[in-house]
Amino acid sequence: MTAAHPIQYVKGVGPRLGEKLAARGIRTPHDALYFFPRDYEDRRKVIPIRELQAGMTAPVRGKILSVTGGKAGFRTTRLLEIVIADGTGRLSAKWFRFHPSLAERFRVGDAVTLCGPVRWFRFLPEMHHPEILAEEDAADPVHSGRIVPIYPEVEGVPPRVLRKIQWEVVQRHALLEVECFPAGILERAGIPPLQDSLSSIHFPRDDVDVARFREFSSPQQRRLIFGELFALQWALALRRAGTEREEAVPLPWDREIVGEIKRRLPFELTGAQRRVVNEILKDLGNPHPMHRLLQGDVGSGKTIVAWIAAMVAWRHGVQSALMAPTEILAEQHYRRFDALSAGLPVRVALLSAALPPKEREAARKRIRNGEADIVVGTHALIQESVEFRNLALGVIDEQHRFGVLQRAALRKKSKTSPHLLVMTATPIPRTLAITLYGDLDVSVIDEMPLGRVPVRTKVVTEDGRRKVYEEIRREVARGGRAYVVLPLVEESGRIALRDATRTAERLREAFPGVGVGLLHGRMKAAGKEAVMRRFHEGDLSVLVSTTVVEVGVDVPEATVMVVEHAERFGLSQLHQLRGRVGRGIRPSSCFLMTGGEQGEDAAARLSIMEQTVDGFRIAEEDLRIRGPGDFAGVRQSGIPDLVFADLVRDASILRMAREIASELHREDPNLSAPGHVGIRRFLELRSAAAVGQD
Ligand code: ADP
Ligand code: MG
Repeated sequence: MTAAHPIQYVKGVGPRLGEKLAARGIRTPHDALYFFPRDYEDRRKVIPIRELQAGMTAPVRGKILSVTGGKAGFRTTRLLEIVIADGTGRLSAKWFRFHPSLAERFRVGDAVTLCGPVRWFRFLPEMHHPEILAEEDAADPVHSGRIVPIYPEVEGVPPRVLRKIQWEVVQRHALLEVECFPAGILERAGIPPLQDSLSSIHFPRDDVDVARFREFSSPQQRRLIFGELFALQWALALRRAGTEREEAVPLPWDREIVGEIKRRLPFELTGAQRRVVNEILKDLGNPHPMHRLLQGDVGSGKTIVAWIAAMVAWRHGVQSALMAPTEILAEQHYRRFDALSAGLPVRVALLSAALPPKEREAARKRIRNGEADIVVGTHALIQESVEFRNLALGVIDEQHRFGVLQRAALRKKSKTSPHLLVMTATPIPRTLAITLYGDLDVSVIDEMPLGRVPVRTKVVTEDGRRKVYEEIRREVARGGRAYVVLPLVEESGRIALRDATRTAERLREAFPGVGVGLLHGRMKAAGKEAVMRRFHEGDLSVLVSTTVVEVGVDVPEATVMVVEHAERFGLSQLHQLRGRVGRGIRPSSCFLMTGGEQGEDAAARLSIMEQTVDGFRIAEEDLRIRGPGDFAGVRQSGIPDLVFADLVRDASILRMAREIASELHREDPNLSAPGHVGIRRFLELRSAAAVGQD
């Protein structure tokens, strides 16, 4: 029998259990090899009863002192209890559900070995439903005297039976698996070959560190994690190599355009901004498309960098496009770009779905004829009806709001391959960035503009609301602005809207004479724009809004951010919201309002916001709490679900896999060397399986 035969032919399985296993996806011994324990129990040593502690799971061995219940006359009682003693103490074992024959297995005076979680009851240790390891001194390599695997539940297959089946499978099949990585790679990654990994993961040897097995970070487990991450990194290396071969219009800078740009900069660039501008200008001069990710925390000044790149493209008489995730943001960028290039014959155009049909058509026409040099817009930019005359540079702002698909769609708007710059405010941890954007070069702005004061953040309950309002009043009186943000309840947009309206009314009452505006997703574009403009100009001082202001909005006078029901937001989202203030030189505050019953839990989670303004740290924390699936962009990224790897825990393996995959791709892109054929097969099998899943 091979590992590909039906599971029912494994010793001890048969058709009935075979069906139960198949229902759990275990159809063959091969499947069983990859059905891993969810935990382990250390049963290497029997523990003296006196040394037991609550919460531990350990085998104990003792003589049976008493057997109570199980059967009383003709009636079977609900409780079976035995008490055992081992010379160091006594322990009681209880069963609340049991087969009547269980009671018959125990006889006073016999020895028995039990294993289960220990708890305390009336000064005595006890175990509920312990596993019976041995009734006499039988040697048993599967269930006792070793580190024992605990498998996820399989309906209809008792745990001990399942463990025995896995033992049979491992004995017969684990060593016949084929390792696809050459010894050199395994050694470099510090991992053992697959065969050893598989057998150890199921039945660890006695000399291993159980704790590491329990957290899935033993070298044997890392072998599987490595395989998974290697496959991912290989796919990214392929994509990267693809763009290196493409041709693009080179856009070298010259003194004149750089001089023009410098004269127009409204402030001095930070060192970090200067560094990334240099990296970008160097890329743009190449005859191959730039593929660069610009990371910089909220407020670090990415927009100006995009404008500089667009100006260099303009100098060459080609078009550039800037895509933003919201209408408000597109409109803001449009006005900023237009103002920055005032007096020059640079034609900036706005294209968003919010424009009236006539204007939209006019904009499209100018884009098609080449009468627009810099086009700013929302995802309306990548619609089919939009044609560029000679698009040579694409910039995507807040890339994490889009997916890789939109990135590809923007690239397709050009007859040649355009240079591409994607910008993100890093609510994406580094490890996730390598997987999401592994095909991009990375530039980082790791410095804030001079004079910024970190935003003071406080988690506030309802009792503190008065103080928060006082702060708003004080700041507004000084000419500042305040945001009050409400969560959007998706299923019931109506309720959210009512909440927002009511909040705005309450604030108008609280601050007579102060302009309070309301902004929400259901408003028409022109309405939103008008409210935003009035807030910008100071006609409105308080802006009540749903999360439409989350990304990108830039009103430097704003110094107060109040987030209602802050517990309903992810940490990265809160970080983005907080980034709307602290953009000028005045000190700013952010108040995270939480109330109700979940108050305390929420306050604990939110307190990280009080401790740090570092977007990376917050994103890592978010990743830890919520997992990668929740990060925008991950779902549509085409990244396969990771089964073994955990992007937080396995960051170092991820880097290693990336290094090895890139090197290997450089050396042997087709994996045709004799030593690499195994890897090729492994990758082919994986992608076949992935296609099969759809
Ligand atoms: P983000 O990186 O979040 O997109 P923006 O580009 O919106 O940040 O910039 C945030 C604010 O900082 C804007 O008001 C911008 O004009 C200002 N700014 C950007 N760079 C500098 C700088 N070097 N010195 C002073 N202010 C700057
Ligand atoms: Mg921005």
